[in-house]
Formats: sequence, C-alpha cells, structure tokens
Amino acid sequence: MLQVSHVDAKHGLLQAVRGVSLVVREGEVVALVGANGAGKSTLLRTIAGAHPAAAGTITLNGKDITGLAAHRRVALGVALVPEGRKLFPDLTVEENLLVAGRRARKGPWSVKTVLDAFPMLEPLRHKRAANLSGGQQQATSIGRALMTNPQVLLLDEVSLGLAPVAVDSVYECLAVLIDGGTTIVLVEQDLGRAMSVADRVVCMLEGRVALEAAAGMVTRDQVTGAYFGLARKGSA
Ligand code: ATP
Repeated sequence: MLQVSHVDAKHGLLQAVRGVSLVVREGEVVALVGANGAGKSTLLRTIAGAHPAAAGTITLNGKDITGLAAHRRVALGVALVPEGRKLFPDLTVEENLLVAGRRARKGPWSVKTVLDAFPMLEPLRHKRAANLSGGQQQATSIGRALMTNPQVLLLDEVSLGLAPVAVDSVYECLAVLIDGGTTIVLVEQDLGRAMSVADRVVCMLEGRVALEAAAGMVTRDQVTGAYFGLARKGSA
C-alpha cells in the first residue's frame, strides 16, 4: 500500500533521514523504533507531507505522492497523528473531530463511529480539548485522524509523556483499530508496547534502517542492539 524508496530528509544541513526504504502492506502494523534523534519523526512527517523529501519517492497504492502537499495526501488516505497531539485547545472533542471530517474521504469513520470505537470519549464530547487529560487528548487526536478515513494511519509517539494508565487506554483504542484491520505505522519509544502490537519492527539508527524484521522473528535484545548500532540490517 505504502512504499518509501530511498528517501532522504534534511533539517538544514543536518540529514535526518538517509536513504530509507520501507514497504507497508494493507492491514499491517509496522512499529518504527530507535533512539532519540534516529529520524523516526522526520520520516513519518515526510511520508505525511509535513516535511519535504530531499530525495527518493513515496508511493501510495502505486501513485507517486512525493511532491504532494500534506492536505492532498490526506485526501488520498494518509493521516498523521502528530507528536504532542496538536488539537485545537478551544474546540470541544466533537468539534476537533468535525474539523478533520470536513474534507474526509468516503469511509466508515464519523463522529458516531469514532465515539463508538473509543467509548472513553463519549462523555467528553462537549468538553474543550484544553481541559482533557493527556490520554484523553491522545485518543481525540487519533479519532481526529480517523475522521479523514485514512488508508494508512501514521502515529507519532502516542504514549510520550502519558501516565501508564493513560498509555493503557490509548493502546486499548489502538487495539480496536488493529482488530479492525487498520494499516498503521507506529513510532513508539516503548519497545515492549511496540513489539506487542506490531507485525513488523523497523529500527532506525542515525537516519538509516538498522534492522527490519517480523515482530515474532526478532527478540527485544536484537532490537535493542540495533538501537545502539550492534546489529546489521537483515541480521535478525
Ligand atoms: P525523537 O524520539 O527524539 O523525536 P526521532 O527519531 O523522531 O527522535 P527526529 O525528531 O526525526 O528523530 O530527529 C532526527 C534528527 O533531526 C535529530 O538530529 C534532530 O535533532 C534533528 N531535528 C529534528 N527536528 C528538527 C528541526 N525542526 N530542526 C532542526 N533539526 C531537527
């Protein structure tokens, strides 16, 4: 469904993503892991069109989307849940969902189906986003991305800064999506969490893919080794 080929991305002179190639198949959950600064967020933002690719190509269902603006990628089915949630703080939960749904693709997601899937949000639907807990905001942010009826959902650091109980509830939301067959690329610092939900693990190191393996075929130690440059690509 999604194919990233030899993609570079830069921040000024700093090359954050170096020749990354990655394939995400329909219904697959890919965990993108790696140390701070490995380039995970930059790669995800480049796929979403929030950051320009300096080289390489990104295709969705065979269509080259590398040069498209972010909103055009949303219209084709690429949705990003950004790090830090980035909700409209003065809008309610429902209004945050509705804003995203205005130019949605056709599909199953609506305010009703999001609230059905994430029942924790139902009693909060008229509450301002600024007054929600971190976990509630994260669930709203995921719901907002779903409102665009994405083909692939890109999730950046969904558990960052959340209390463990909030992380549990966010992962309960993700379990609903995964059970429903949603295609997901998940950037996650918590390796245990990432490996528990992923079909495939891709570990980045200094902008490159250091390891890529089916989640069931790789141990935590092997992935941790790749974090620190101790494993070679394809060795797991
Ligand atoms: P983290 O978990 O810390 O977010 P990451 O793996 O997501 O790490 P990126 O955030 O993509 O990594 O950062 C990759 C590199 O690009 C790092 O060296 C980082 O300092 C740099 N970088 C990221 N964002 C910017 C920016 N806006 N301006 C300049 N450099 C940046």
